[in-house]
Amino acid sequence: MSRPVSFNIKQKPLVDDISMAEMPAGHQGEGFFATTLDSVIGLARKNSIWPLPFATSCCGIEFMATMGAHYDLARFGSERVGFSPRQCDLLMVMGTIAKKMGPVVKQVYLQMAEPRWVMAVGACASSGGVFDTYSVLQGIDQVVPVDVYVPGCPPRPEAILDGVIRLQDLIGREKLRRRNSDQYKALLESYGIQ
Ligand code: SF4
Repeated sequence: MSRPVSFNIKQKPLVDDISMAEMPAGHQGEGFFATTLDSVIGLARKNSIWPLPFATSCCGIEFMATMGAHYDLARFGSERVGFSPRQCDLLMVMGTIAKKMGPVVKQVYLQMAEPRWVMAVGACASSGGVFDTYSVLQGIDQVVPVDVYVPGCPPRPEAILDGVIRLQDLIGREKLRRRNSDQYKALLESYGIQ
């Protein structure tokens, strides 16, 4: 006797309310809304992040799932994945980075225009993971500054989405002049970046 086959054909109710980006704090009245330039630019930037996936091993597969229809990174405005650093503003490093690869990660970072952000996805990119060996970089923050670390080995797509949401928070609150500040220049100089 053959087994009954069941397909995932449960009808999901159609959601007809389209969620909108949250309005920044400001003043409004009839026919006008006023807010700061920082908030408007932050709002635009955080909802249009262009990721550059730098995937070297298993965590990259989780990123592929994150891009798929089920998790749908496009909901956060980040579906435009690019492979030219010059057109991207988020470097997502996913996987084990060998020490030989460190300069390559740094070169990709240098080719990105400001403002740029970096996410270390998974234990290997964040800290070397289980590979505490002579050949593996013990975290990409040894070569480039990192904005968000996503824990896990591998992190589930939900964790990667959580990292994106945390990065959106950071981007939305970033002051326009931050990249010209002495602290930011000192941070880059500590990595040997002018
Ligand atoms: S953190 Fe785990 S899953 Fe991710 S690249 Fe390292 S070993 Fe693979």
